[in-house]
Amino acid sequence: MKYRTLGNTGIQVSEIAMGSEGLEGQSYEVCRALIETCLEQGINFFDLYNPNPETRRNFGKAMAGRRQAYVLQGHLCTVWQNGQYLRTRDIDSVRQSFESLLNDLGTDYIDVGMIHYADKKEDFETILSGPVLAYAKDLKARGVIKSIGLSTHSAEVAFMAVESGAIEVIMFSLNPAYDMRPGADIIEDLYELKNYEDNALSGMDEQRERLYQTCAAKGIAITVMKPYGGGMLLDAKKSPFEVALTPLQCLHYALTRPAVSAVMAGCFTPEQIREAARYETCSDEEKDFSVTLSSAPRHSYSGRCMYCGHCAPCTVGIDIALVNKYLDLAHSGSKDFIPETVREHYALLEHPASECISCGVCETNCPFGVAIIEKMAEAADVFGC
Ligand code: SF4
Ligand code: SF4
Repeated sequence: MKYRTLGNTGIQVSEIAMGSEGLEGQSYEVCRALIETCLEQGINFFDLYNPNPETRRNFGKAMAGRRQAYVLQGHLCTVWQNGQYLRTRDIDSVRQSFESLLNDLGTDYIDVGMIHYADKKEDFETILSGPVLAYAKDLKARGVIKSIGLSTHSAEVAFMAVESGAIEVIMFSLNPAYDMRPGADIIEDLYELKNYEDNALSGMDEQRERLYQTCAAKGIAITVMKPYGGGMLLDAKKSPFEVALTPLQCLHYALTRPAVSAVMAGCFTPEQIREAARYETCSDEEKDFSVTLSSAPRHSYSGRCMYCGHCAPCTVGIDIALVNKYLDLAHSGSKDFIPETVREHYALLEHPASECISCGVCETNCPFGVAIIEKMAEAADVFGC
């Protein structure tokens, strides 16, 4: 396993890291088996966003007596209420949940105090000027957290975090689909293998490109979430590229972006952990994503939402690209399971898909021929509004 420095914090983390999805709702025995497999493979970096006390206790019990063996991203602003995960900025709840985290884990410090996701500018401004950041700074001053992080899916908010000077680690959703510059020019770029040589970023969304470069320049670490697009990129039928990438190719893509320190692989079985860790020993051919992406047929984009936003503005204000993205994420899990984070993101939309009046204006504007009216009806059905 290779280890990278987490930006300016100096903390050493395994470049392949583990997210906590696989621990959720599992017995202690299953959690322990997953954690032991990680440690065997040299994985020392874990993200634990879930405030479920049982998940936290399972993790703490499995790691008992081995605090030096792992580096943890523990989240601030997630709470467990009525058997459900919730995000909050209520400082009393934030404090209580964080103190429980330490208690449940049986530790007196967390390596990265990750302020749980802010995707809206206003939300991040509230964090910056309010008690949440003050609390995080106080924890850091007392050595209870070693660094301050922020998780976000928005490049704009990530930039604000960079500029704030207060955030040392950004947990960011990053993969070839999310990174791709929208529009026909990008499709052409994807056919050019040179765009993927030497970590060149041409073909990417400009704002994302700038974000990665700025983080690298300032020593702000990026830890990656959703490297497989929630599974979407591993399935030719679901991928916007209409070809399946392998987990190794997705990991390589993320790990070759500037500023990235580690990728949180979503693993549910010991075999999946071993396959992710095989990144360290696989051949260059196995992890070469450029061949797969560049050989995707151009027509494969037809009918698939590329999240480009060309369909805007919607007559009634629906953010069509976001609805489509959440719908794709909902479909990326098992048939009857929609990740809670996806549900929560959808619930935050100002205008749900059910408000669609089938006027069809968006379909005229979509360069990829997406059946948007059908998609809105499907999203309204899947999310219940
Ligand atoms: S529906 Fe079409 S225009 Fe709208 S975001 Fe998706 S691909 Fe772009
Ligand atoms: S039909 Fe399409 S364009 Fe019209 S409101 Fe609904 S999503 Fe928007």
